[in-house]
Amino acid sequence: MVGGQVLVVEDNERNMKLFRDVLAASGYRTLEAKTGGEAVELVRRHRPQVVLLDVQLPDIDGVEVLRTIRTDARTAFLPIVAITAQAMDGDRERFLSAGFDEYLPKPVDVRELLDVVRRYCPSVGDRVARTAD
Ligand code: MN
Repeated sequence: MVGGQVLVVEDNERNMKLFRDVLAASGYRTLEAKTGGEAVELVRRHRPQVVLLDVQLPDIDGVEVLRTIRTDARTAFLPIVAITAQAMDGDRERFLSAGFDEYLPKPVDVRELLDVVRRYCPSVGDRVARTAD
């Protein structure tokens, strides 16, 4: 019994390890991409339940990755979370109006990260907790 699949798109190895460890500890399976190109390919092939998308990537900008996913009818409605060090006044609104479902500023608060992921994707931990009630 495993939780849902989360695609993590992040080119920074240390952040990737943090996200992977936190998600795995909560019962999620992760797919990983380091570039926008890989992200688009994995989204098409696996249709994960939620995408955590670093906005600053080495190839395609995260906003461009979002647009590509949104223009494909098979993936248009996937929940996509922007993760970015751009955390100035107005950035949250800017990313949400660009079409992201959620916005998480870096450095990422791991509890906030899990709260957001849980909204779209139940984990093993949630199922265990419900069974114990
Ligand atoms: Mn980056």
